[in-house]
Amino acid sequence: MALKLYRRHRKECEGSHAEDTRSGEFEEGRRGWKKCGCLIHASGSLHGAFKRKNTGRTDWREAKAIALEWEKTHSWDGEVAVPPIVPEPSSLPKRTTIERAAKTFLDELREHAAAATHKKYRLLLNRFKAFSEQRGYVMIDQWEPLDVREFRSSWKVSPGTAVRNMAMLKPFFEWCLNNEWVSRNPARLVKNPKGREVRRAEQKLPFTDEELKRIYEACKTYGRESRYVWNGDDLADFISLSIYTGLRISDVALFHIDRMLPTGEILIRTTKAGTHVYTWVPDWLQKRIQERSEKHGPFIFGTHKTETLEVITEGSGGGN
Ligand SMILES: [Zn+2]
Repeated sequence: MALKLYRRHRKECEGSHAEDTRSGEFEEGRRGWKKCGCLIHASGSLHGAFKRKNTGRTDWREAKAIALEWEKTHSWDGEVAVPPIVPEPSSLPKRTTIERAAKTFLDELREHAAAATHKKYRLLLNRFKAFSEQRGYVMIDQWEPLDVREFRSSWKVSPGTAVRNMAMLKPFFEWCLNNEWVSRNPARLVKNPKGREVRRAEQKLPFTDEELKRIYEACKTYGRESRYVWNGDDLADFISLSIYTGLRISDVALFHIDRMLPTGEILIRTTKAGTHVYTWVPDWLQKRIQERSEKHGPFIFGTHKTETLEVITEGSGGGN
């Protein structure tokens, strides 16, 4: 389409978009966009005459039909009688090729996205096209959630990059959905994998529920004799914190109250890139940690005279 379409927001905009600002179809397809009834305008040159003109429509499809009519007649003049398009539920979906979907998406993206962003999408969609070709897919509606999942596993990238790639694949399919090329967003149905570390902690959970019950039972009778510095409550807290965070024994032994955020999340590690990884613990455990820090100070299992980890882990009841 030679003419460019945009919605121009008026003062009374229902979506509270600033007066005289513009938005495009792509932008409005994003998640959380506030819809409004402001009119769609067309701008461009017809037969050498540049102009901006109100299509008088609020619906993108109707506005496109009007602009198309202006293009066909090569004229801005004259009223175009385009009947409002009523979607027919019985009509067959308009099928679109993967090639065309990717191309139109990128063309439109170029108009409002930074060059770097455009490049990232272009690279991702190139791989998307190559992957489609391998599978013999031609039409965009051939993509299923399973394909998205397998596409994701085919990326030899870090989990963080995979998450970012998925974050780009979702709006692409969302845009296809808005164009009615697909009946659902297959990328939205694919959940990102949990962090490796969390998964590892879950897999390594060393005790069954029954064993845990017995451990906690035993805590009740532990430390009754005065020769123990630790009592059963200390031990129970220590075990709970280990189980819920998956932290190493040495990390639990040296647990500092600053590891817990005011929201109750607990820092389990810091990545090489400096990103903090947190995990959630239940309210009662948050409360126990808080209480311990009030009673014992910031190191909730006490301060240590030695810096040697072996001694600390030995002292707190066993090796790793
Ligand atoms: Zn508006």
